[in-house]
Amino acid sequence: MIAQKPIAILSALQEEQQGLVEQLDHRSCVQYAGRNFWLGELHGHSVVLVLSRIGKVAAATTAAALISRFQAQAIVFTGVAGGVGAGVRVGDVVVASGFVQHDMDASPLFPRYEIPLTGQTVFATDTAWTGRLQFACETSLVELSHSGRSPVVHHGLIATGDRFVNGAGEVAIMADQLTAHGHTALAVEMEGAAVAQVCQDHGIPFAAVRTISDRADDSAHVDFPAFVREVASLYARSIATALLKAL
Ligand code: SAH
Repeated sequence: MIAQKPIAILSALQEEQQGLVEQLDHRSCVQYAGRNFWLGELHGHSVVLVLSRIGKVAAATTAAALISRFQAQAIVFTGVAGGVGAGVRVGDVVVASGFVQHDMDASPLFPRYEIPLTGQTVFATDTAWTGRLQFACETSLVELSHSGRSPVVHHGLIATGDRFVNGAGEVAIMADQLTAHGHTALAVEMEGAAVAQVCQDHGIPFAAVRTISDRADDSAHVDFPAFVREVASLYARSIATALLKAL
């Protein structure tokens, strides 16, 4: 029998990964590139679980290892992000349609935000996997609530950069500049665009969901740790479970 290529579930933070690692059948751990790759089966599917680590370079290294060393058939990212779009509130989730790097600026050599030598600014996620992920969010999160409200599942562009955005002025400038170039971001985080670019280079499908942990404003750093501990880890586990069960 030919072994099934694993589905990779990439998490940004330990708390999000922990619940999934505990559920793994036939669990084993391989250390590679300074990371722990957890192999096994989840709900009958071969999976590999790993922490992306934080920032674009770390996430790109992890994604490249998942593809080249662990033969991932697809990569699904679950993490947290700052809410940027109007109506994107703490406790909601954003399923990514694509990613832009908000800190990429090789102008005037290349247009602002364009990734040099690719001719591309936005890296789209895979349509089929994104549809499955959206369905998993809608079915699993309906049971959960945050601050007395059911989480809203948004779908749209996410901005990535090597910066924890935590100022109302800063987030407004970033969002306005993106919008002026035709890109309306719903959320901001630090890894997604890097993984999307690596996946495109290798022709591997990529989908991502981010739970909104903060509004990227002056209180972002205060909201963050408690939210990740209490809410985001639960969401990540529910979404990943619903996704795998529906495959
Ligand atoms: N306290 C954490 C560090 C988290 S860095 C630790 O010590 O491990 C922030 C992480 O959450 C990144 O993975 C990033 O993708 C995401 N994130 C959440 N809110 C964000 C914001 N406002 N700006 C940028 N990234 C954010």
